[in-house]
Amino acid sequence: MENIIVSACLLGLSCRYDGRSKPCQAVLELLKEESIRLIPVCPEQLGGLPTPRIASERKGSRVIMGDGHDVTKQYQKGAQEALKLAHLYACKKAILKEKSPSCGCGRIYDGSFSRTLMDGNGVTAELFLSDGIEVIGETLLPGIGE
Ligand code: SF4
Repeated sequence: MENIIVSACLLGLSCRYDGRSKPCQAVLELLKEESIRLIPVCPEQLGGLPTPRIASERKGSRVIMGDGHDVTKQYQKGAQEALKLAHLYACKKAILKEKSPSCGCGRIYDGSFSRTLMDGNGVTAELFLSDGIEVIGETLLPGIGE
């Protein structure tokens, strides 16, 4: 049995900033795989942020809400807690929601709140990668379980 961390919103949990979810059929299909166990996690909630909440973006090493509030500490705490779960369940892979300031891997919004993407990782994705955990965006799913 392979344990894989997954962004909870991709499984249909309503944990996003707008109080909604973002279910992904390819992720839901993985629930049928007997050789895989998905471990859902929402780093922003684990960091102590409410739902719904004002959307945030990374700005350099900080994370800033749309109203200018600095939520870097909550994002860092959420990332640490998510990593704790990954270790508890010996996860070597994580399927994380693309573009999120927590979960995004490779491309995230640039901090201008103009829906402009730049190269970079969310805070949790960054911590996972530095710990040697493979991070896979939901649109890149083929390959899991092979
Ligand atoms: Fe989904 Fe990650 Fe955002 Fe939580 S922090 S809502 S899991 S993208």
